[in-house]
Order: sequence, then structure tokens, then C-alpha cells
Amino acid sequence: MNAADLLRELVRIPSPSGREDAAAARVEGALRELGLAPERRGRNVTAALDGGEGPLLLLNSHLDTVPVGEGWTREPLAGALEDGRIYGRGANDAKGCVVAMMLGAARAFATDAPKGRVLFAATCEEEVLGQGLETLLPELPRPDAAVVGEPTGLAPAVAQKGLLLLEVEARGRSAHAAHGGGVNAVEAAARDVLALSRLSLAREHPALGRASLHVTQIRGGERHNVIPDLCTLVVDVRTTPAYAPDEIAGLVRAAVDGRVRVRSSRLGSVETDPAHPIVRAALAASPGARPYGSPTLSDWVFLKGIPTVKAGPGDSRRSHAPDEYLETAELEAGVLFYERLIRAYFAEARA
Ligand SMILES: [Zn+2]
Repeated sequence: MNAADLLRELVRIPSPSGREDAAAARVEGALRELGLAPERRGRNVTAALDGGEGPLLLLNSHLDTVPVGEGWTREPLAGALEDGRIYGRGANDAKGCVVAMMLGAARAFATDAPKGRVLFAATCEEEVLGQGLETLLPELPRPDAAVVGEPTGLAPAVAQKGLLLLEVEARGRSAHAAHGGGVNAVEAAARDVLALSRLSLAREHPALGRASLHVTQIRGGERHNVIPDLCTLVVDVRTTPAYAPDEIAGLVRAAVDGRVRVRSSRLGSVETDPAHPIVRAALAASPGARPYGSPTLSDWVFLKGIPTVKAGPGDSRRSHAPDEYLETAELEAGVLFYERLIRAYFAEARA
């Protein structure tokens, strides 16, 4: 099976989050053509490869894409091959990883199969961190290690920042703007914004550096002539394992006058011991690559407690952008990378 042809086919099948059925069906068909026995579970597809008694390695990547968006100079869903690049929404994030993973796994088990088991899972709704891997995981045997396929230039991410979303609610008392009086909630919120800009999260994580904290939304006031009695801030915190989310919420509470509410803390930061066999296997499979910390979220958040690396062909700067592409050379290197990683992991795990 030709990797580039399969990727071009998958790019031609639109699969925005929530509408992955047709792409899942094509992956299921391709797995069958590879001689595997795929299973459909909703808009997810899994296939088990069994080389006998040994650890279980999960290979996961996602079928969904962000919407096409504006600014393309090429057809976003045509899968055109031009100067060694396959263009289209999802080519880089992450259909290239899906294709490379399934072909790499099939090759690893086609001859001289490693002693161990691989579970390949192409899942839905990663871009919205929705009903994909998180809901599938409890139905699967618990993996000993995992690889999350995302475009990282084949370098393994060994840590990933989490997302903590906070809301700060500044209260005041409304009054007619012409008469004066009242307590202005927008002014109170402004003082909280400045207080948050001075808040320091100084503890460094070796791979991820510092957590970041930004006020990204503000909403207050209904009419020009009414002193507002409510103003709400949204605070986007990108967390590292150096701070527990509760601790950050506590620091924010101490810094502001408004009432702090945790809107979401389910997407925690994750990390893997750089000495774990899965990291060593990824490095052995990608000569010259260095482990690094990734600031962006992925389905790895749902694999907490399972030693995981995030790695795959492509470049995350091309993701979610117009003229997204993956080079056919990168795709081929990705197939080889996953094949080598699988062999190296089972060799490492036995050593
Ligand atoms: Zn992705």
C-alpha cells in the first residue's frame, strides 16, 4: 500500500470534528487491505497486532480536522501532490500520522514480528477534546505505553502543558451613569487584570519551562449609561507539573478581589520519565532528535499515568493554517519511524 496515495485519499474525505464517519470507514478498509482485523467503535477505528506475550503499546492519532478556514491558495480538500508536498486540510494534522502509524505498525509485524502487542486507534474529536480517545479508552485493555501521533518533526515530546480555565467575577452596584454613585465592576475588574499581569509562576519545569497565565476575555456592562454591576474575566493558564491546578487557582484568588471560579481543570499537564523505554525507543527510531516539552494540547491529556510520547511526521506550525501540507518524504520517514519505534520499544521493554 502506497502511503502518499492513502494520505491523498484521506485528505479528500472531509472530517471536521463530529463528522469523521467516512474517514473512519476508509481507515477501516485500509486496515483490512493490510491484512488486519479492524473494529469500528463509533467514529473510532482500532486494530490489534499481536506478536505474542509482551507489553501492550497503544498507537493513537486522530481522524478529525479543524474546519478548512480562509486564505488557501490551493484546493483545501483535493489532496493535490505538488513538488513533493501533499496539500490539504488534515494532511499534516494528523492524517499523515494516521497513515504513517498504520503502515509502520503493519510493516513491523509483517516480517520478524516483535514480541508484544500493538493497539492502533484512529480516533475522533481530538480537535475539540471531545468524545474520542477519552471515551474509547475505558473499553480498551490498559496500555503499558503509548505514542500519540501529532506533527512534531519526529522528535518525541516528553511533556505537554495542560489547560486550566478560570473565571474572575468582579461585582459592583449599578447606578445611572449621569447621576454618579454606584460601584463600577469594570473598574474593579481592571484592577484584577493588572494584578494578574504581575502574578508570577516562577517554578520551572525541565522540559516545559514556566506555566503561562493570560486574561484572554473580558465582558462587562450592558449599556453606555449604566454603571456596570458585573464584569467577568476569563483566565487561560497553561500549566506544567510544577504547579497543581488548585495551587494556581489559590494564587489567583489571593491576587484578585473578584470571585474566582474554576471553569475547567480536566486537561492536566502530563510528562514521561525521559529514561522510560518508550522515550528511548522514540529516540532510537529518530536519529538526531531531541526530547522536548510541548505547549499544545492533544489527546495525551487522557493518557495520564501511561508513559507516553507525542511524535509524528510534519510540523505543528502548518497545522490549522491555510495551505497545510505534508511532504511525501516526511510521510515515508514517518512510516519508517513508527516501524523502528515499535521494534525498539519491544526490544527495550524486554531488556
Ligand atoms: Zn492534531
